Amino acid sequence: MKPAERIAALTREIAEHNRAYYELDAPVVSDATYDALVRELRELESANPELAETGSPTRTVGAAPSPLFAPVRHAVAMMSLDNAFDRAELEAWDARWRKLAGVGGEATDYVCELKIDGLAMSLTYENGVFVRAATRGNGVEGEDVTSNVATVEAVPKELRLSRADVPRLVEVRGEVYMALSDFQELNRHQAVSGAKVFANPRNSAAGSLRQKDPAVTATRALSFWAYQLGAKEGGPSFTRHSESLEFLSEAGFPVNPHINVVGDLAHVEAYCERWLADRHDLDYETDGVVVKLNDLSLHERLGATSHAPRWAIAYKYPPEEEYTLLRDIAVSIGRSGKATPFAVLEPVRVSGSTVSMATLHNEDQVRLKDVRPGDTVIVRKAGEVIPEVVGPVAGLRPPRTKPWRFPTTCPRCGGPLVRLEGESDTFCTNVDCPEQRIQRIAHFASRSAMDIEGLGEKRVEQLTSLGLLVDAGDLYALLPEDLEPLEGFGALSASNLTGAIEASKSRALDRLLTGLGIRHVGAAGARELAAAFPDLDAISSAPQESLAEVEGIGPVIAESIVRFFAVPSNRELIEKFRRAGVNLASTAFVPGRGEVGERDPGAGQLVQTLAGRTVVVSGTLSGFSRDEAEAAIRAHGGKATGSVSAKTDALVVGADPGASKVTKAESLGVPILDEAAFEHFLKTGRMGD
Ligand code: NAD
Repeated sequence: MKPAERIAALTREIAEHNRAYYELDAPVVSDATYDALVRELRELESANPELAETGSPTRTVGAAPSPLFAPVRHAVAMMSLDNAFDRAELEAWDARWRKLAGVGGEATDYVCELKIDGLAMSLTYENGVFVRAATRGNGVEGEDVTSNVATVEAVPKELRLSRADVPRLVEVRGEVYMALSDFQELNRHQAVSGAKVFANPRNSAAGSLRQKDPAVTATRALSFWAYQLGAKEGGPSFTRHSESLEFLSEAGFPVNPHINVVGDLAHVEAYCERWLADRHDLDYETDGVVVKLNDLSLHERLGATSHAPRWAIAYKYPPEEEYTLLRDIAVSIGRSGKATPFAVLEPVRVSGSTVSMATLHNEDQVRLKDVRPGDTVIVRKAGEVIPEVVGPVAGLRPPRTKPWRFPTTCPRCGGPLVRLEGESDTFCTNVDCPEQRIQRIAHFASRSAMDIEGLGEKRVEQLTSLGLLVDAGDLYALLPEDLEPLEGFGALSASNLTGAIEASKSRALDRLLTGLGIRHVGAAGARELAAAFPDLDAISSAPQESLAEVEGIGPVIAESIVRFFAVPSNRELIEKFRRAGVNLASTAFVPGRGEVGERDPGAGQLVQTLAGRTVVVSGTLSGFSRDEAEAAIRAHGGKATGSVSAKTDALVVGADPGASKVTKAESLGVPILDEAAFEHFLKTGRMGD
């Protein structure tokens, strides 16, 4: 395609996306895709300046105001911002404005502000009274949304200033946004009432504000951050942007508390990095950092292009949302038989990793999101969080799709899938389902349970399909010569695996309990049980009431434990473990603790010598394993944690403790106890005599 044709095609396409985004609040491509189109257009235009049109989206702002609202002319234009997508682009901006302003390498202040992902707003006050609110529109003319904004509590209706400081006229610029918690609440409410669910807080803020009926806006929890002055007549004058922010704060506007003034670009970069890491600690979405020169005389000298000011730049974070094709919805079967629907996606890069699958949780979730195979869906991955399908892009649904129906039979064994009354989960009810078996054994071998190295899901599947494994008990009968001839094994890997299985026999009881996969019993519950009972037999024969009295167990979990041990195949499994010599005894058992109900009606808890204390154990102790030492701390009412902080009360050290833990404890003045001092501490709660 010739550059002129491509420029025309890009211009058309971007204009359509602008309309969908700014006018309809319903974009059909992700921000990253949109940004890539704009970038391509900008590059083509700079290579072929004679082809660039004045109305190009690279030279204009936003989209034309909607005829649904009265037009408002901004006294000072509302601009967009130029973007930097990495450090090099940030540095290029810095070099650019310095050259233009002729300031060379002189020191200057930068104001770093979070880039709030909401909707730009201009608020006009005449003699201190709120008179108008307008959207950005095309930058010159916006939409009159005064009565809608009047319902936003965070927007002051009168300036809180002494009479001398009240400007005759002032335009306050800022972002209307919806807090994440309010957004989730709104979507819950929308879903329950069968109304449209919003894709993200930005779209919901924009959609809530640009309503014909202000009564609807009034029901939506919208907030506001002020970050800039527009036109100003009268009132105090400023030489720095930071002074104008202070003024806004004094006048009663919410000004973001994380705004920082820094003295050089290295600190700007550190701010950007810090907030890239911490952005999810905030209750509102940010899509980058806005860096502004603090010196207002530089603003005047540098001015703006037709698109954006030259004295500011938006440092954009990598996108956390992408759009992709939902190829199919499949169902996976877990160890308990739980059937979980998941999205099979056209692979897409989000937040630095490729996503090709995402859980859809359960039948109700699929119905609520109404995602259908063939839909373009929004996939979101925030930081380290598991990827999520947000919902379909309504405008791109192919014709003749039908809502997805949960299958009635198990995709693995063909057994019936059953959803119990009042529950949200669906289960494969066939106890012999091979998939459940594989998942149970793989869970048993997993790191949080018996930690058998080299026994992942694939290996378990192989051994199960060959009939070598029916349950986890069969692991202990495997010999190296059984494995050696199998595909993927050699003499060494066969003996490594049987060696790892052998080593698992001496794991602590709580790991075995975790590995059994009793419904509702996770690692923490397993630890409590192992501390409360001397061995597995005591747990398997304990009455429900005794189990329920154990810390953190309660009636539902207790019932599940009793049920588990009532199943004959589970009892047989325990016998297999016993015959194989798997450890069934609890070394973490603390006599007196959890000795409840029938076993010892009179015994109470151990004296809680460590109540409210946080203790870290590091290195090898001679009289306790790590698990036992931690169980003892918990049994005495303390909290055992893995890392030293200012909240740690003591660090217990054995042989070869972690050097960083010891250094940290020393620097924080946390007492360091050897094993003898630890025992004394357990007994008396005192460190020293
Ligand atoms: P922008 O969002 O990159 O930056 C300008 C805006 O940042 C301002 O108007 C203001 O609203 C906001 N902002 C937030 N915090 C600020 C602060 N502290 N100081 C100053 N401004 C602050 O530019 P834009 O022109 O508003 O929008 C372009 C962006 O919008 C694109 O990069 C893309 O992410 C998105 N977009 C997406 C589509 C789509 O189809 N997906 C279409 C159009 C635009």
